[in-house]
Amino acid sequence: MCRSPYGSPNRGAVTRSVTEGFLRATARVAPTYNMCTVWATLAVAHIYTPNPPRKEPNMNYATIKKTDVANGPGVRVSLFVSGCRHACKGCFNSEAWDFAYGEPFGGDTLKEILDALEPDYIEGFSVLGGEPFEPENRETVLSVIRAVKDRHPDMNIWCYSGFTFEQLKDTEVSKDILSLIDVLVDGKFVEAKKNLRLKFRGSENQRLIDVKKTLASGEIKLLEI
Ligand code: SF4
Repeated sequence: MCRSPYGSPNRGAVTRSVTEGFLRATARVAPTYNMCTVWATLAVAHIYTPNPPRKEPNMNYATIKKTDVANGPGVRVSLFVSGCRHACKGCFNSEAWDFAYGEPFGGDTLKEILDALEPDYIEGFSVLGGEPFEPENRETVLSVIRAVKDRHPDMNIWCYSGFTFEQLKDTEVSKDILSLIDVLVDGKFVEAKKNLRLKFRGSENQRLIDVKKTLASGEIKLLEI
């Protein structure tokens, strides 16, 4: 079910490996062959073997809500990313399971978010989806959060995830995201535990985790609201 976010294998490395093997075989069958010529040829092969362009992780997003009051305290800007593999029964946003849903996230999108965060009445920034911590999404999510932090160091940042804090805390990139955010709303949506009276979450298993206190203490600290 997984699609690799990083594209095809390194064809340049494969080509170089084949070239080296050929030259070694040539040297074996023709021991009088001038080794300087062999290695000069090898160097040229290295120089002219094209490296495939690195495919950057690419994220789509479904929407940006610029006055959201449902996904964190106060009036917020919320980014809804595309792509989620959790497939929770009763998900409110199943169209965003598709990684290709919505629009590609680009430089203009980041500017749109930063501009939307400028008014004084904006209290925070939330990232949800979809799944912000899917491997395809987390590099872009990290760069967005870094940019928001640079512009608004004191703005509170929330992330929603179907993964638990314990699943994310030691994972590359995810732990960098956690180090920058204030609250993680974690866990899948469980329809049997749905409760409409809950604030900022859909089902009772989901937790509002105070990430800074949790990281400082080494044990889960829930947000006091
Ligand atoms: S994690 Fe969220 S977006 Fe993904 S399936 Fe569950 S409820 Fe839907």
